[in-house]
Amino acid sequence: MARYTGPRCRKCRRYGVSLCGKTRCAFTRRQAPPGPRSMRRRKVSDRGLQLIEKQKVRFAYGLMERQFRHYYDRASRGSGVTGEEMMKLLERRLDNVVYRLGFGSSRQQARQLVCHGHIAVNGTKLDIPSAAVKVGVEIGFTERGKRSTYHDILREEIKSRAAPGWLELNPEALVGRVVGDPGPGDYEPYFNPNAIVEYYSR
Ligand code: ZN
Repeated sequence: MARYTGPRCRKCRRYGVSLCGKTRCAFTRRQAPPGPRSMRRRKVSDRGLQLIEKQKVRFAYGLMERQFRHYYDRASRGSGVTGEEMMKLLERRLDNVVYRLGFGSSRQQARQLVCHGHIAVNGTKLDIPSAAVKVGVEIGFTERGKRSTYHDILREEIKSRAAPGWLELNPEALVGRVVGDPGPGDYEPYFNPNAIVEYYSR
């Protein structure tokens, strides 16, 4: 599946918030938006602001427009509040769950762990980052993943990371379990799902 591979911190600077998950984000050094000065200072319309909110979330989850739109379409067909349903679908992606468990320090790194066959769901390798993870499922490492040096480093690093309430983590075994539904408090506070719904629904 395609994904954005350009300079990641260009997006962080464009949307005014660190989205890359890197410990050394360029946004912390240069807060001005990228590009020529005239572009940086333009006035933004309501539509433009909705677009920014949409792009912010889209880049954070590392998705191309088509895939991202697909999550909106699915959420809007459901009976729940579209914005929150959409965030639930995004949060349940396997690459995101691996990130939320603290197995990767960024969504990008988590995605790589999945793609390289290091992640097992209920004991079986699952290398599809977009796979939807259900309640009750167990997420751990494959034999290949356990053999990597990263696995040993992670056992130390994970002590400083905390998983959200809808996930349960055994830090010694490096195994996690989905125990509930991700809620509004479980994603980044600067995400604005209502603006995304407004953007797509007009
Ligand atoms: Zn960045």
